[in-house]
Amino acid sequence: MVVAATGADDVVNALRWASATGTPVAVQATGHGANFPVDHGLLISTARMTAVEVDPGRRTATVAAGAKWGDVLAAAAPHGLATLNGTSTDAGATGYLVGGGLPVLGRTYGYAADLVRSFRVATPDGRLHETDGTSEPELFWALRGGKSTVGVVTSLVTELLPLRTVLGGGLYFRGEHAEAVLAAWSEWTRTVPERMCSAFAVLRMPPIPQIPEPIRGGFWARVAVAWTGDPAEGERLLAPLRAAAPVAVDWVEEMPYTDIDRVHLDPQDPLPGRESCSLLRELPPQAQRAFLDQVGPDASGSPILVAQIRHMGGALSRPARTEDAICARDAAHLLEAVAVMGAPPDAEAVEHATASLHTAMSPYGTGRTMINIHGTPGDAADRARAWTPQVHERLRRARETYDPSNLLRFGHTV
Ligand SMILES: Cc1cc2nc3c(=O)[nH]c(=O)nc-3n(C[C@H](O)[C@H](O)[C@H](O)COP(=O)(O)OP(=O)(O)OC[C@H]3O[C@@H](n4cnc5c(N)ncnc54)[C@H](O)[C@@H]3O)c2cc1C
Repeated sequence: MVVAATGADDVVNALRWASATGTPVAVQATGHGANFPVDHGLLISTARMTAVEVDPGRRTATVAAGAKWGDVLAAAAPHGLATLNGTSTDAGATGYLVGGGLPVLGRTYGYAADLVRSFRVATPDGRLHETDGTSEPELFWALRGGKSTVGVVTSLVTELLPLRTVLGGGLYFRGEHAEAVLAAWSEWTRTVPERMCSAFAVLRMPPIPQIPEPIRGGFWARVAVAWTGDPAEGERLLAPLRAAAPVAVDWVEEMPYTDIDRVHLDPQDPLPGRESCSLLRELPPQAQRAFLDQVGPDASGSPILVAQIRHMGGALSRPARTEDAICARDAAHLLEAVAVMGAPPDAEAVEHATASLHTAMSPYGTGRTMINIHGTPGDAADRARAWTPQVHERLRRARETYDPSNLLRFGHTV
């Protein structure tokens, strides 16, 4: 059964019905995280709840549960304000925030969930709560990094950033330079200030019209960057990267923040993608070698289209203003891979390549994953990898308080 909610009352009523009938519940806004079946359950869709209200004086936005980051940014930008979105503004703001929210500008501003001031959330007993850290602090804690373990958010208030432009985009190198570029980028990340956010990726671009010329088709090494300081200083800082190897396509320029999706150029259309993630402690030369052995120019048969290493640290390693359930502050890098699933034999190849990549990188890992980027949730042990044992246990206790029948059991929850 699907409830297409138009407001908080619909969500509350749906949860009361689910609770009375013992029906497990899933919630979805865009379907970007629709990577598990909802068999014999109730799906609450918030896709119709897209209202966004910006208060320019307070620099906040009140965001209904189904709004995408693109909706929030469109309302904020006319006031010179920006959102702390991830690599695609097509993702839902709420789903992203309850998973912690790793922004493009994370090294500068930290996790997006820590900008949330308050949530309105319906719990499976059919009660609507307002939580801002002072009222029901455990709920506020669990909703920032615990995904939908404790309730269904109906709206939230988040801070916005006074930011109009960034220096950003991608430096694309021919694939044969991957080793030199990765080594140079890794060295460079040790030297750059927190205002420099970046990621190294190898990209196997299919020759499809959705991918812009001239990077359509072929194998590329890319460094995606976003710098929020003085553009001239940013250009100076980028010089060692541009000197690492011949740059085939240089798309780094000062851009309005509303163009932020151009930094990572994530696909805008739905794909049957298999996403996976590991958090890394370090990236020594042996780790770079292991990465390239798996997905570099010589791994020509790899079904992994994008393998990206994001630079973490900076504000992402500092504690939150108000404690949250995010467990990635010890990571120096985040490894993510995306493969596109085909017919069943291809799916097997994808699973094999994905497992092989993360196993090869495990000596350099923290042992954990990031919930938003983990992809298909596995068994309880696999899902638990998103949190430290202490945080997992605390989330389990929060779930016992707010969802004792474990109705919100679908997806990446405790
Ligand atoms: C192209 C792309 C780029 C991305 N880049 C980043 C990135 O840079 N950083 C990052 O952190 N993440 C990133 N993500 C992951 C994204 O944040 C998660 O997939 C997020 O869950 C998407 O939310 P959604 O509403 O769009 O998806 P949906 O499939 O609608 O929801 C996904 C999950 O979010 C939870 N959820 C949704 N609505 C609610 C609600 N009202 N109350 C409680 N829980 C809810 C549920 O657990 C649900 O299963 C990216 C995803 C895509 C597709």
